[in-house]
Amino acid sequence: MDLNQLTITLAHDGLLKKEFSSRELTQAYLAAIKRLDPSIHAFITVMEEGALRQADAADAVFASGEATELTGIPLAIKDNILIDGIAATSGSKVLENYVATYDATVISRLKKSGAVFLGKANQDEFAMGSSTENSAYEKTANPWDPSRVPGGSSGGSAAAVAAGMCLGALGSDTGGSIRQPAAFCGVVGVKPTYGRVSRYGLSALASSLDQIGPLAKTVMDAARVLQAISGQDGRDPTTQAVGDMNLSKVTQDIRGIKIGVPKEYFIEGMDPDIKKAIDQAMEKFQELGAEIQEVQLPLTKYALAVYYLTVTSEVSANLARYDGIRYGLSAHDTAKNLAEVYSRSREQGLGAETKRRIILGTYTLSAGYYDQYYVKAQKVRQMIMQEFDRVFRQVDCLLTPTTPSVAFSFGEKFSDPLMMYLSDIYTVPANIGGICGISIPCGFTRGLPIGMQIMGKSFDEETILRVAYAYEQSTDWHTRQPKVR
Ligand code: GLN
Repeated sequence: MDLNQLTITLAHDGLLKKEFSSRELTQAYLAAIKRLDPSIHAFITVMEEGALRQADAADAVFASGEATELTGIPLAIKDNILIDGIAATSGSKVLENYVATYDATVISRLKKSGAVFLGKANQDEFAMGSSTENSAYEKTANPWDPSRVPGGSSGGSAAAVAAGMCLGALGSDTGGSIRQPAAFCGVVGVKPTYGRVSRYGLSALASSLDQIGPLAKTVMDAARVLQAISGQDGRDPTTQAVGDMNLSKVTQDIRGIKIGVPKEYFIEGMDPDIKKAIDQAMEKFQELGAEIQEVQLPLTKYALAVYYLTVTSEVSANLARYDGIRYGLSAHDTAKNLAEVYSRSREQGLGAETKRRIILGTYTLSAGYYDQYYVKAQKVRQMIMQEFDRVFRQVDCLLTPTTPSVAFSFGEKFSDPLMMYLSDIYTVPANIGGICGISIPCGFTRGLPIGMQIMGKSFDEETILRVAYAYEQSTDWHTRQPKVR
């Protein structure tokens, strides 16, 4: 049996039946990392010893019969999510020598479930970007075509899943950073509703938008990881007490489900093959008994502007903590005074995109411009939320492409930030609205995967997972694998 071909669901069955141990499973993934990561560069840190220790503990749990669905399952964790005692750079040089001193809530939850952590995955610096090219450490290659980006900012997580270097991964999504790399790498990615998953121990990008979520090979695998990390947490007051999802609902058929298709998402300039794939998906959904309905979301055209005003403003506030005093890189030995410690540490420690956003956000929050930019953006944000509320009274979920293009080449958009920002055009609205979204594979063009997005009402992950599951069961896109494996 090739352990690197499994899904979480199949691996769990194998572990239960004692066809292999968690140690064997974990060794197989560590071996895949050794073999493939020198060319993919999905990991910043590999936690070999710790992973094997966790695997042995998981095997002991299996022996005593109290295993969960994630016991002994090897996962990759985006580097901005803290694991006690493990380096957490967030893709930034400023945190090069930072070692986490506590577990993020999602990590303590996964530890309780018995999951195994293989390592920390590469990302754009502080999760700013759509290609992982903003990492201070390495460029992650797309397993489908190593001359192309894996998407971002959770590019390491998506590439690790696609290349078979882990069974699942955690990413974070502020404006698409789970769904967009999932689409580019041909895997499943879920952005949970704002407030379902605790952000405690996630290094903040934009606190009003950030959510941690799963990437995996199948919808059910992603659902299982999501279930394990979800729940109210006293350490993140924005989490809500909504209870567990009922995963048995995910496998129900979708007859009578109303799927809205917003015409604003089919913009000029989008890849025609993506449009074709979505059209075919609509037909498939109709065959499965769902009803397709065209809906209108006219404020979509403001989403990107609202998003980038909000993100840059929150970035300028959140990243003020990297001042060379409390965390990481410090220029104190060469600086002449305190102001120089701040400015030199930030000058040396932060990358170009991060600096760009701090400068823009400082501007949008400054006296005189605050009302004009930040406050205005928040007003439009409210209107976009109301627009989603309205449309979700007509339909159960929304179907759109995840991205306007498939994975692009290294350097193609790197020197043009606006072009890069445009790759998020279909994913940022869900973050602005605080609603949930999933990206699943729905076709290929020129050998590269295409992703489709299903968005749902706040805390109605069950519906988007169910619709995605029904589609996945009737297609075989998710079974295709890149040659690199
Ligand atoms: N690409 C978007 C950005 O650069 C989204 C980032 C994210 O979701 N973390 O902000």
